[in-house]
Amino acid sequence: MLWVVERQFIVVLGPAGSGKTTLTASFGRWVEEKQGLSVGYVNLDPGADILPYKADFDIRRYVNVRDVMKKYGLGPNGAFIKCADLMLEDLERIIAGIDSVKSEYVIVDTPGQMELFVFRRSGPTIIDGLRSLGFPIAVVVFDPSLAGSPVDIAALKLMTTVVQLRLNVDSVPVLNKVDLPSSSEVAKVLESSKDLLEALRYEEGLSADLAQALMTVLEDYRQASRLVKVSALQGTGLEELYDILHEVYCTCGDLT
Ligand code: GDP
Repeated sequence: MLWVVERQFIVVLGPAGSGKTTLTASFGRWVEEKQGLSVGYVNLDPGADILPYKADFDIRRYVNVRDVMKKYGLGPNGAFIKCADLMLEDLERIIAGIDSVKSEYVIVDTPGQMELFVFRRSGPTIIDGLRSLGFPIAVVVFDPSLAGSPVDIAALKLMTTVVQLRLNVDSVPVLNKVDLPSSSEVAKVLESSKDLLEALRYEEGLSADLAQALMTVLEDYRQASRLVKVSALQGTGLEELYDILHEVYCTCGDLT
């Protein structure tokens, strides 16, 4: 049988500070060392400062927040939005640049503010471009500091679904920073839908009722994607992340 293996694009998304850039670097290193694959690194954050990996394609060569602030007289927020729109205008060159990264496994780091990628047109359009080059999967990174209550945890689960809806790709939720003591309770509740629904039953108010109803609906629609727990900083949980991404690829990707 002829095996046509596509390039895989692992698109790392998540709220600012959740650890996307750290995970891009440590997961890439792990895949290179433990799986023996050639890994390519793509930076799509026009506001990135120093990167802990060597980007094979770097959006800052085309669009850079600092230059945009100067050129258009914008503050940081306006400049990030302008950058997202400029990326769209330069799409062909950007996709061609990403295509020149010939590694079999490509990890794509996205802007710190995930709404820029998920809600503006540039993100879904870039994902469509990646789909024309290979097989994109989204990794949605959470940070335990964002999950102080069961309602917060329900909101994080919804965020993974929103990414899936907007970008039309499979999305794998990842809880990062499990080396922090605060992560263990969050992981337990996030891991089991039953535990989350149970915890929501003890919460009061409209948000808790809404969260309960939404989580019940999600149970029917989402494929059972288990939560991956990692510490990007300490390099733990990376094998499980690789395995689940491989499972998603084998279920949906073209291996024939
Ligand atoms: P990004 O904005 O999502 O790209 O987040 P960064 O990768 O820049 O990380 C934000 C902060 O979280 C940095 O100070 C990292 O050192 C820290 N960080 C990232 N991963 C971990 C982790 O696994 N554990 C801990 N304790 N800190 C982490």
